[in-house]
Amino acid sequence: MSPKLLHHPDGITAVDTEYLQPGHAASHIIQDAGRAAFVDVGTNYSVPHLLAGLEALGIAREAVDYVFLTHVHLDHVGGAGLLMRELPKARAVLHPRGAPHVIDPEKLIAGSKVVYGEERFQKLYGDLLPIPAARVDAAQDGQRFRLGGRELELIHTPGHALHHYAVVDSAHASIFPGDTFGISYRETDSPHGAFITPTTSPTQFDPEQLIASIERMAAYAPKAMYLMHFSRVTDVPRLAEMLKVQIRAIVHIAQRHAAAQDRYTAIRADMLDLWLGLAHEHGVPLSDAQIATVLRGDLDLNTQGLLVWLDRLKRS
Ligand SMILES: [Zn+2]
Repeated sequence: MSPKLLHHPDGITAVDTEYLQPGHAASHIIQDAGRAAFVDVGTNYSVPHLLAGLEALGIAREAVDYVFLTHVHLDHVGGAGLLMRELPKARAVLHPRGAPHVIDPEKLIAGSKVVYGEERFQKLYGDLLPIPAARVDAAQDGQRFRLGGRELELIHTPGHALHHYAVVDSAHASIFPGDTFGISYRETDSPHGAFITPTTSPTQFDPEQLIASIERMAAYAPKAMYLMHFSRVTDVPRLAEMLKVQIRAIVHIAQRHAAAQDRYTAIRADMLDLWLGLAHEHGVPLSDAQIATVLRGDLDLNTQGLLVWLDRLKRS
């Protein structure tokens, strides 16, 4: 197996997890002074690619100290139980609200089957393995972890999910934001740089929290963000602004159609229009049809998340 690797500065490597299609989801390996950590891992089907990535980098499985799991959505955490079996010294690190769900994944499985259905769930994720409680650490806001010679700070970043944290590597002006800093596929890059969209997927999207988390991360003045979807972006202040503008616009779209007969179709169509307009403005070198294809899955998930959010507003 030859894993697809992207070699970045500062001992950081992206491994394509081969989730859905190449270029969609990246796990990151951080190396420092002979020790290593993963940030997010993909699904069970990603694990062979991750292990091949370690081997290609010459990292022994015993040298992995941490598996940082930014949140418990299955494209990030689904393969963690299987991977941990291969990494004898590693500890899995999660938000205190996320940790119980990798120790006992029954709720995660049930929740995800609601979104995807039984058959597609199996195809995407397979059988989730639990991680023994003794190998799981719950990270408090601001807690620091030493990896080789570097210090990583974990900060709680709700908004995409309540149980979300980001990994801050201050010495290298880098942050691993999970899904809190949106989605930016490399095929939508233009001469002006990266194009980015927020992710509002089910079931804990909260616009005010998300904007606050983006501002908190931007306040570290990072030079690079290492996104799961998809890997390194720079020009962080411009992207932060682009995300905040879109979060407000998407929330406005959702509220405008809150009472529509087919909320799903109406919200999805307006979000696509918003994204096509912004993509053109940005000079994304793809046709409308190609952009709609690249962003199709995110349009679906974002719309589902917005419906859940609207229903939660109604109840409160
Ligand atoms: Zn997510």
